[in-house]
Amino acid sequence: MTANLYALFASRFPADKSACCIETHDALYYSWSDIERASAKIANLLSSLQLPAGARIAVQVEKSPEALILYLATLRAGFVYLPLNTAYRAAEITYFIGDAEPAVVVCSPKNFGWVAQIAFKAGVQHLFTLDEINSGSGGKNSGSLLARAVHHSDQFETVETQADDLAVILYTSGTTGRSKGAMLSHGNIASNAKVLQEYWQWQAGDVLLHALPLFHIHGLFVAVNGALLNGSKMIFLPKFDAAEVRRHLPRSTVFMGVPTYYVRLLADVDFDRHACGNIRLFVSGSAPLLSDTFAAFAERTGHTILERYGMSETAMLTSNPYASERRGGTVGLPLPGVSVRIIKTDADGCSANCAANEIGEIQVKGPNVFQGYWRMPQKTAEEFTADGYFKTGDVGKFDGDGYLAIVGRSKDLIISGGYNVYPKEIEMVIDELDGVLESAVIGVPDADFGEAVTAVIVSRPDAKLTADLVIASLKAAIANFKVPKRIFFADELPRNTMGKVQKNVLRERYAG
Ligand code: ATP
Ligand code: MG
Repeated sequence: MTANLYALFASRFPADKSACCIETHDALYYSWSDIERASAKIANLLSSLQLPAGARIAVQVEKSPEALILYLATLRAGFVYLPLNTAYRAAEITYFIGDAEPAVVVCSPKNFGWVAQIAFKAGVQHLFTLDEINSGSGGKNSGSLLARAVHHSDQFETVETQADDLAVILYTSGTTGRSKGAMLSHGNIASNAKVLQEYWQWQAGDVLLHALPLFHIHGLFVAVNGALLNGSKMIFLPKFDAAEVRRHLPRSTVFMGVPTYYVRLLADVDFDRHACGNIRLFVSGSAPLLSDTFAAFAERTGHTILERYGMSETAMLTSNPYASERRGGTVGLPLPGVSVRIIKTDADGCSANCAANEIGEIQVKGPNVFQGYWRMPQKTAEEFTADGYFKTGDVGKFDGDGYLAIVGRSKDLIISGGYNVYPKEIEMVIDELDGVLESAVIGVPDADFGEAVTAVIVSRPDAKLTADLVIASLKAAIANFKVPKRIFFADELPRNTMGKVQKNVLRERYAG
């Protein structure tokens, strides 16, 4: 039997293929049969290009149903889908195209000029826009993938693949350094999609309100794969917009977002129970959900946001339970089939499992864990233990009931005067102080301490906070070596498109 991920989806499409699969914000409807036939046309086009096995199809396009169909067509044709963040400009695209050496690049019409220059310099064989460029004279660009695909058959026999065959290269968000290409197989993605469909109890009649981007694991796999596997309709918003989300919530049952989305929804004072009356499940991930947001959302709407944890390399690893207690400040329990352990390493390099509530490095194993970093065999080898666990680079602890809390990333760990300081622990105390909106704790080089604990605080508009006041409060609450040596106030924290705080930016900004 084929392990092709598309074949799995297709086996779950609803019997009535005239039903709606995707509805757009501007009321266009794509049926399941539209998805099937359009992906067949594009798969036929890709197959006609005589690409070598394992060819990468790099895609940087605005979110649309067609972009999703291209993902599915690439799976069907057995090639490797490589989505790229729409915010990336020339320097980044040059890196990704140089690194991934895609055979095909698909870009949006408005970027065609500069992407073409980069692609041709890099020897890319085929460059398309996804849809058509309307030239001044009203003529159409023959390099449009959709225009070319129209001439192909709407029937396509999905290529047989093995579970280990590459399906997608997902570049990591680049929060801690240069993005790395995580190689995910058909088997990796399928296993995670099936587990999540069951764990979150996707059901008949579910409608997913999709406001996330399609180039990242959250929007592409966690959200879309769940709906496809469940044969559920998706309402596609081009991007997150609180008013648009509110407009569509009454017709939706599932919503997924990064923590910022929830903060923005709450910013509207009349966002309440009534606004979310039809929703069955709110999911948050990609960055830590502040306890404040978790609590405020529950109070205002009656909904307990379900927080989960994962990464490009592994898809989802842990999740708060669907039916039992969702614990704020935690990312829940290991998903079925995923093994998660917390490891401490002593000064001699000896490792051991941590006890409950003991902080250590999060390591994972399971059918969801990737095949390695693209063209980085050395790095791949370094990130796996001898017994096959992947070192996530995140630091955390299990509580007595097995709920995992993320304390931070090992790269953000601060070593000050020989003591390990976990930023999250201090951020949580700072965030509790009156007048604090949010905070980020970082280590900056320091002659005395090696690294000096430093806090960057975003205060509420009416707050009367001073560095001295904050330090005095912290001294009463936590050990002296954890108390920041310096406090800075900022209007906001630097974040990337997935809402992740960029601590490397802060470290640079406040060094010295
Ligand atoms: P890079 O690896 O390039 O530095 P990145 O790790 O941010 O970037 P992603 O794979 O998009 O790239 O993100 C995975 C990371 O996001 C996890 O390792 C974890 O640090 C963080 N993360 C995801 N979900 C959560 C969550 N619910 N709470 C806290 N952190 C989370
Ligand atoms: Mg990472």
